[in-house]
Amino acid sequence: MKIIDSIVEMQGVADSLRGLGKRIALVPTMGYFHEGHLNLMRIGRTLGDYLAVSLYVNPTQFAPTEDFEAYPRDFERDRKMAEEVGVDAIFCPDSTQMYPEGYQTYVSVMETTKNLCGRSRPHFFRGVTTVCTKLFHSVKPHVAVFGKKDYQQYVTICRMVRDLDMGIEIVGAPITREPSGLAMSSRNVYLRPEEMESALSLSRSLVEAKGMYEKGERESRVILDRVRGIIERHPHAKIDYAQICHAATMDDIPVIGEQAVLALAVWVGKTRLIDNHVFGEPLDIDHEDSNRGGR
Ligand code: AMP
Repeated sequence: MKIIDSIVEMQGVADSLRGLGKRIALVPTMGYFHEGHLNLMRIGRTLGDYLAVSLYVNPTQFAPTEDFEAYPRDFERDRKMAEEVGVDAIFCPDSTQMYPEGYQTYVSVMETTKNLCGRSRPHFFRGVTTVCTKLFHSVKPHVAVFGKKDYQQYVTICRMVRDLDMGIEIVGAPITREPSGLAMSSRNVYLRPEEMESALSLSRSLVEAKGMYEKGERESRVILDRVRGIIERHPHAKIDYAQICHAATMDDIPVIGEQAVLALAVWVGKTRLIDNHVFGEPLDIDHEDSNRGGR
């Protein structure tokens, strides 16, 4: 596995691979890998002849008050994990290359970013779409894999690639969870033992919502009242948002139709967790465990 830390070198590698008719797959990440990242890499491995994983903690998607400095980093650990999954190259440019002095160009997707995380973190999506555009120009992938754990991000990247004719296939990967149901995240290392039960309230409330949907409930308000009730009874949990949105536009919908996603962002202590469920899709969580705090 190669470690490529230069944009120019990465572009050269990508050009030669394309010249040879090879298909390039990219998994963009901020590192500190867990099984969720590794699953994206395993999917990427099946989609291309050459699998690149980018590892870059992107400063432009963090507000000054957020955890950019504290964000967990461990390059050696990440390197070993990626190698074991069969990654061909880790692309890890530094910020002097990504945002050199005088940098002033940004990519913004206007509508899918207005709601949910776009409200609570106004700077966030512009940072994500800009860095992904730059990573795409370095790695020149035919296909890129994104996790549906960051559902609004996935939808926004799909929109950007389509609107800007980037010619990249975007593949969405299902959410990888701990056996408890907790969606895996690099930020889970911040959680203190006494906050764990509160953290589990997200996935438990999603299981409850799925159950209500399967019994025929379609009114967003009714489902959201139950979801909020489950989360709010936990002492360390504070809801940032709990909304049901159209799964392609990300606009709020009062009644669940064909494409709907229940999206959650919850502060658990000092950690902001997100999770979601697309109605009608699987949600593989052990029900017995989920029901403990569910009702
Ligand atoms: P991050 O390093 O957190 O920016 O995430 C890099 C990629 O991994 C993004 O496409 C995320 O959506 C995806 N990802 C992170 N956690 C999970 C998870 N638990 N399940 C599926 N994908 C995930």
